[in-house]
Formats: sequence, structure tokens, C-alpha cells
Amino acid sequence: MKKYFILLVLPLVLLLFANSAIASGTAERVDGKDRFQVAVNLSQKGWPTQSDTVVLSFYNAYADALTSGPLAYHYNAPILLTHNNNLTDVTKKEIARLKPNRVVVVGGPGSIADSVLNELRKMGIKEVTRINGEDRFEVAANVAKQLPGNKKAVIADGLNFPDALAISPYASQNKIPILLTRPKAMPQATKQTLSSLGITSTIVVGGEASVSKTVYGQLPTPMRISGEDRYEVAANIIRQLKLPTGKAYLSTGATFADALTGSVLAAKENAPILLTRSDKIPDPTRKIISERKISNYVVLGGLGSIPQKIVAQLSGKLAGLTIVVDAGHGGTDPGAIGNGLKESDIVLDISRRLQPKLEAAGVNVVMTRATNKYITLDDRVKAANDIGANAFISIHNNAYSDGSANGTETYWNDTYAGQESKELATEIQKELVKQLGTRDRGVKEGNFKVIRETTMVSVLVEVAFITNQNDAQKLASAAYREKATNAIYQGILNYYGKN
Ligand SMILES: [Zn+2]
Repeated sequence: MKKYFILLVLPLVLLLFANSAIASGTAERVDGKDRFQVAVNLSQKGWPTQSDTVVLSFYNAYADALTSGPLAYHYNAPILLTHNNNLTDVTKKEIARLKPNRVVVVGGPGSIADSVLNELRKMGIKEVTRINGEDRFEVAANVAKQLPGNKKAVIADGLNFPDALAISPYASQNKIPILLTRPKAMPQATKQTLSSLGITSTIVVGGEASVSKTVYGQLPTPMRISGEDRYEVAANIIRQLKLPTGKAYLSTGATFADALTGSVLAAKENAPILLTRSDKIPDPTRKIISERKISNYVVLGGLGSIPQKIVAQLSGKLAGLTIVVDAGHGGTDPGAIGNGLKESDIVLDISRRLQPKLEAAGVNVVMTRATNKYITLDDRVKAANDIGANAFISIHNNAYSDGSANGTETYWNDTYAGQESKELATEIQKELVKQLGTRDRGVKEGNFKVIRETTMVSVLVEVAFITNQNDAQKLASAAYREKATNAIYQGILNYYGKN
């Protein structure tokens, strides 16, 4: 079995356009059939020859594995996982490969039984030690005591994993102990350790739901890294601690299984951890990616946790962009009518075809409408401005009282991003005319509200004349609508220098 799969390795392309805030990147997935295997694969990636020390944690005690990060980093050791009563097979094999002199078992006998330690000794490992503890709070405290004197400590919610996970690479790299708390009351073990280690300042991860004001008030010189949700907390860790983002590890924020042991390797690679959902990249994560232009990823875990669609959004040709696709008219406003066609239907169909193409290239697509409903022009503008879209594409069909008028034209407006809008209009116009074989009516400046008031690059495309018989025949054909869609898509790619 392959240890890990290189899914997408696109060469970094020199960007020709100053307005392309994106770079083609790389995404490497570290996968495995279960968390034991993921841990082994991470170990093989980070410690290809051998390791003097191995840290061993119970597979179901995420807190132990996460708070072990700084210690593992201190020992330059991978973290492996085991079952409770016997040393898990793949883990045993990996330990044999690593030929360590020492294995540090993290957790009390309730999580890792003495029989596992005996098995390790039987393997000929000279030093097998246990960091004990009644519960996760004590284990974390006792791990902290093994670290070289640091006057700083991280405080995270011990009852939930995402905050501790996201801070773990930073804490590991700086050998800052991660101590755990209950949201509303600080456990005795944590309190004692803060005092016995002489901690003078603390980094509190998470909002008040994770670490309450009461607990915060009991901490030495606390600094809180907060956020609306776990995704924003992870993004704010990068911002507030000014972490480098040449590479980032990506983990699901929903379950702890996959990323459990990734933090040490992330620390070794000087990379922070970002969290994502499996159905979409959450807005706070998307925001930090675009702010930092993050383009190189290690994806932790299998397709079940992070589907390929998400990876495409990170490293696809147009990764990092949010584009609003605006199907003109709709509902009570049919737009132009002619030759048995309704503009609102035609442009909706083209918009719906455009959405998946853009998404496959990594775009976060926002549709002003995905159904036949009426939307005001103000709402269309607001949708784009509120989310800070990178581009706005309004799709229309033309009409004229004289049926002989025909052809394709694309509008831009000078109010915002005029030059860029004109360039995008030019690229789309060129492709439409080429692919549809319509008359080239050119790129024009137009005073339409949706392109005048949207504050980003914006264009309004008049695909063809619904009132002209020849043009209408094309608009009526699904094959031509597909061609029109491909043309708009290609124009966007051209504009971003990604053709
Ligand atoms: Zn229209």
C-alpha cells in the first residue's frame, strides 16, 4: 500500500496579472484506513529512517495525543497510537522500523494498560516510561512537567478537540506546554501546574464558551485567541501569532480521528493547522487562505473527512476566488421574450452550467439565484459586496425591436475596478464570439446598476439576441448554451492567467 498519495502537484506558475491574488499550489494527502495507519504514515513521512524516541498515546484519547505534541517535538519523536490492552499491529511494526531507544507512553493504565508497556520492553526497547494521570487534565499537567522550563503555557478546552489541535503546532514548535481546562472551572491539576512551573503568561485558545471569563480571570497574564467558531479560532491563531503559511496542514474540524498525530509533523514543517468542513470550506478558513495566499497543503485524512472537492478548492486553477454568478431577471421578471424563448430561463440554465465548472477549478461560487425567482438589483449588488467577492458575472440575453439586430456584447463599468473589468469583459467576449460564431458587437462601457455598484471586477454579458431568429436558435439549443458556458468559463480562466 502506498504510504500517501500525491493528488495534485501543479507547478507554481508565474502570475502575469497583478489582479490574480492566487497561485496554483500543491496538496498532498496523508491518508490511511484508520487513525492508527494515518499516524504510521505521518511517522514515515516525518521520520523516514529512524527515531530515537516514540510517543505512544491511546487511540481514543485525543486530549493526550494533542497535549503530547510539544513533548514529542522536544524529543523529535512521532506520536503513534495504540489500543488499550495490546500494542496495535501496524503501530508495533512502525516502532520496530523506527528502532527507538525510548518509548514514552502517555496516559494512565486506564487508557494504556501495563501489558502494552511489557510488550514494548519485549521488543527490546531500553527505556519505556509512562506519563501518568487520573484524567486528561492530570496527563496534560504531567506532560508539561517533562518539558524544559517555559514560563508560558497554552490553555485550551479539554472537553473538545479543535482549539487544542489548531494551537498544537505552534505550542509544539515553541515547546510551550498545553494545559487543559473545563470551560467553566479550572481543574486542580491545571491550577497546581501553572503555579509549580512558575508560568507567568498564558495563551488562551477559544471563545468564552470554551474558556469562560471566570477561568480566564484566574490565569497569569492571559491573552485570548478567540473566534466565532473553531474555524475562525484556527484562522486567528495564524493571525495573532503571526505564523508562517508557506505550507498549511488541513484537518477536518468535525472529528479528531485524522489529525490527532499530525501536529508534530506540522510543527517540524513550520506549518499551522487549518480546519475545514467536509461539505465546504468555511468562510473564516477561506478568508485566511486568501489573506495569506496559502497554496501548499498537507491534507490530513481520507476522502470521508476531506473530499477531493475541498482539495480542488484549495489547489485548483482558480482556488481562493469567490465569484458571484448572476443570472439576470427571474420570477415575475422574465426579461426579454422572443422566438418562443424567455431570457430568464436561458440565462439561468447557463448560470447553472457555469457553477460546477468554476467549482471544479476551486472557485467559491455564489449564485444570486439558482431557481426561477425574482431578485432585486439591489440584492444582487449587496450579495456580491457583502461577501467581498473577487468577481461578479451577470448573464443576460439581448433584445431589440428590430429582429435583425444580432450578436454578442459584453459590458463593463468604470466606477470600480474599471480597467480589470474591461479586461475580463474582453476575455469573455473574445471566447463567446469564437465559440458561438455570433457577430462581435464588442466590449462596451455600460451603466447597468449591477456592474456600476458592485465594488469588484464586474461584467455583464449579453450572450446573443433573443429577438433575432438565428441567435435565438442558438440560445434554444442546449449544446450552444453549453458552448456559451464554456466560453464564459474560458474567458475567466484567461483573465486570471490560468488558461
Ligand atoms: Zn437582461
